[in-house]
Amino acid sequence: MEFRHYKDIIALKLENRAPLAFHARNLEVAEISEQLWSAMKETSSLLPELEELKGWEAQENPDAKPATRSTGIRSLTINVTQICNLKCTYCAAGGDGTYGAAQTKISVEKTLPQLKFFLERIPQGETFHVSFLGGEPLLYPEGIQAIGSYVLSETSLRNISARFSIVTNGTLINEKTLGVLKNIKADVTVSLDGPAEINDQVRPMKNGKGSTEQVVQGLRELIAAKNELGSITLHGVFSRSNLEVLAAYRFFRSFEVDKFEFTYSVEEKDQNSNLEFVSQMNLIAEEAYQRGGEKELRRIALFDQYFRALDTQQRTENYCGAGKSFLVIDARNNIFTCPWDVGIKEEQVGSGTHLDNAKMNAYEKPLIEQNNCQNCWARFLCGGGCMFIHKKATGNKHVKDDQFCNRTRSLIATTLFYYTQCRTAC
Ligand code: SF4
Ligand code: SF4
Repeated sequence: MEFRHYKDIIALKLENRAPLAFHARNLEVAEISEQLWSAMKETSSLLPELEELKGWEAQENPDAKPATRSTGIRSLTINVTQICNLKCTYCAAGGDGTYGAAQTKISVEKTLPQLKFFLERIPQGETFHVSFLGGEPLLYPEGIQAIGSYVLSETSLRNISARFSIVTNGTLINEKTLGVLKNIKADVTVSLDGPAEINDQVRPMKNGKGSTEQVVQGLRELIAAKNELGSITLHGVFSRSNLEVLAAYRFFRSFEVDKFEFTYSVEEKDQNSNLEFVSQMNLIAEEAYQRGGEKELRRIALFDQYFRALDTQQRTENYCGAGKSFLVIDARNNIFTCPWDVGIKEEQVGSGTHLDNAKMNAYEKPLIEQNNCQNCWARFLCGGGCMFIHKKATGNKHVKDDQFCNRTRSLIATTLFYYTQCRTAC
């Protein structure tokens, strides 16, 4: 793919496709002529073809919505356990789901006052989101039920909507755990990295045996109960040890779930793997689009997210709400801003019902500002990137990881081509 710039407009050209241009501030995208594409190569600003482009660049689209400002914590991730029955090769939670210190169960007695503390600060009419994580959260279904019941009862009294989600390895779906998930109408994300020949290698059980058979069985039970759950998503993680993203997509398609997520490991730093991941995602996009147009393409969460932002022209200034609208409670009731920071003492921002305001203040500014993304054409779709990935690569959460940026911009560019195609032809 070739790129050309004019101030806040980026033009892109893919072999065999008409060139297109994207207005970074206004989140507008349009096909452009070959003449304009050629003119953008010239440095002379006197070329007549550029006049139109200059006019467009100067426009401020009143429909492009400024980023929504986060005004308080609306979302909590709770590690109900810090143990796991799997031993995934790439586990970023201490290698075994424990973050370096195993904790079988969170103390519900200590968690309810924490929930009360955050719930009291939410205005009526808003939504409170609780996400259950681990370790493997379904090792403690009683904890999930107790927390869910408390949140449902408190929010109903105060005209606040409650939403629950869970990320599970999918091996522990039985009558009891499924009952809990139905009771809270959970959005369920099942981690699975591809068909058995791959997934059994990268996501084995603790005893070394493959986990795929159990995951598939669990998934079938979840799908059978789909109407009583929120949504079902399949989530694969890829790195140099598994770059079979297209194979995972093909396998995922055999399940009647709502969404597919493909993420690049937060720990991976290999440049070639980064490039291969992008090229596999491009193959997936092509195959999905050919099979089912926009609808099938948008089953892939990443493309859906960018399509939605372009349709609504809603700018994003924060890749995630860590420390702004979102916090993590670990299984010892300590508070962090990011799930991957659990266990890192200097990243802790509170404990119980105490929040360290000085530490929280460091998260106030928009990420695109803190991360110096002002000159990036993808800034209002990306939102400054993942602080954890940046820190892993550069040692500083606000100094960007080039590989992350290249991957993100490439995938946004891919989206722009399909988006243009869909909005002009679909
Ligand atoms: S791609 Fe990189 S430079 Fe661009 S907004 Fe994202 S983090 Fe910032
Ligand atoms: S910093 Fe990255 S890993 Fe942490 S919550 Fe944000 S997006 Fe997730």
